[in-house]
Amino acid sequence: MTSIHTDSDSPFGLANLPYGVFSLANQRRRCCTRLGDTVVDLSELLGEPHFDQSSLNSFMALGHDRWVETRDRLQELLAADVPDTALHSINDVELHLPIEVADYVDFYASEYHASNLGRLFRPDNPDPLQPNWKHLPVGYHGRAASIVVSGTDIVRPCGQRKGTDDDVPVFGPSQRLDIEAEMGFIVGTTNPMGSRIDVEEADQHIFGAVIFNDWSARDIQAWEYVPLGPNLGKSFASTISPWVVPMLALEHAKVPTPTQEPTPLPYLAMASPWGLDIDMAVEWNGHRISQPPYRTMYWSPAQMLAHITVNGAPVRPGDLFASGTVSGPEKNQRGAFIELTWGGAEPVDVGGEARTFVEDGDEIVISAEATGPNGARLGFGQARARVLPAHL
Ligand code: MN
Repeated sequence: MTSIHTDSDSPFGLANLPYGVFSLANQRRRCCTRLGDTVVDLSELLGEPHFDQSSLNSFMALGHDRWVETRDRLQELLAADVPDTALHSINDVELHLPIEVADYVDFYASEYHASNLGRLFRPDNPDPLQPNWKHLPVGYHGRAASIVVSGTDIVRPCGQRKGTDDDVPVFGPSQRLDIEAEMGFIVGTTNPMGSRIDVEEADQHIFGAVIFNDWSARDIQAWEYVPLGPNLGKSFASTISPWVVPMLALEHAKVPTPTQEPTPLPYLAMASPWGLDIDMAVEWNGHRISQPPYRTMYWSPAQMLAHITVNGAPVRPGDLFASGTVSGPEKNQRGAFIELTWGGAEPVDVGGEARTFVEDGDEIVISAEATGPNGARLGFGQARARVLPAHL
């Protein structure tokens, strides 16, 4: 039996206890949590079959009461001595995609991001926001199969593009590969088809949150998106962090959203719409170039989930919805390079190099920390990826 050591300022203290999936060399995947730099095998510690699984989906499907019970038990067990057979150093394990992603929807919930893109793409329009933007959380359906865990290399996508000077479209590697720093929310429980999730009960259905990098090929996107929205410019890859921070740990991070005016329709209206006090950071080849503040997001995750189901569509355990690019009011708070470089017109300094979009060999790391109880910081780890040359 061992008492797990954690530094008092660790972003992986007892207040966090994120969930993940790990394996040791040549062994099967199992569910885990993390305390300090120790990975705790939950199937070994708790002996419950839903943790002896290669994803968190079975555990998530048990529902909110069991999430509360399990977290309470873990906080009690891990504060005392723990059997050595359940403990591994973070350096000795491989971390995997924590969930089997069922469906994936991406939103567009930052007013700063939506306004910046409106100004870039519709410079002659006096209102940078589309007329629907303050009435519903705008979103599109993405591809679940290309969501990968941090550390997975990203191959530059090929596709059609047509620049303003091109007479006809051409095919080839994207020349405007971008990132979108977002948070992703994982749905733990279902609703029957034909029913809807009430906006005030939505947080009982959200299991937890991850960092989400929505890789975006701007040139492919610009040509394809009219009139039905993003497709192949987005669907080639998205990177998530290996740690799912439970919503139960994020209770202390809840903060009011910015004022929602006009008042949303009743199915979206909340007594106190909440956002999350999360600080994100984007590193480009080791240089921190942006710090997007999640607390500035206009729409609440609860409103996004209520909106997904308002037409009676069911969600399932493992559904993931992402917030959309997180951008704050300042230039160094913009979460996408198209905004940061104003469409490529204003290069940024990346360690002495003037850069606009992502080049082959570049490494992008997005990290995030939330506010926890008593000044604690709650880490999400990283969503890290390197870009490899296109397959021609
Ligand atoms: Mn996005």
